[in-house]
Formats: sequence, structure tokens, C-alpha cells
Amino acid sequence: MRTSRSLPDGTWSVQTVKGNDSGRSYICPGCGRDVNAASSHIVAWRQEARHGIEIGVESRRHWHSRCFDRFR
Ligand SMILES: [Zn+2]
Repeated sequence: MRTSRSLPDGTWSVQTVKGNDSGRSYICPGCGRDVNAASSHIVAWRQEARHGIEIGVESRRHWHSRCFDRFR
């Protein structure tokens, strides 16, 4: 499920992703600790369009669900 959230630095797309077995891990920008792809977490990226092309993809970050609620 994807939602939008308005924040001081722009509008962000927020998507909850289910745990998967990709074996990846990411660094949560909220707490600085690992986000394991095996557990359900949040992916957020800035909604920016230039010439009609979504360019916010580079701003994609993986968050612990709890950290996103707390810090954004
Ligand atoms: Zn976190």
C-alpha cells in the first residue's frame, strides 16, 4: 500500500513492504541501525517530478516502521 505524506522537505511517497528473502539489509535513517529485508518495513522517497519524470528515486530510504512514525 502506498500513501503520501507532506513533510517540511516535500511530499513523500510512503510504502510498506512485506518481509522478503532477498537477504538485503539497509541502514535506517532514523536510528542508524540495520533494516533487514526479512522483516516488514517502510520505503519512502520524495515525490519530485521534472519534465514529468519521477526523480525522487535516488532519495529512496528504507526505514523501520516505528522509526518512520517517530522521526517523520
Ligand atoms: Zn530505525
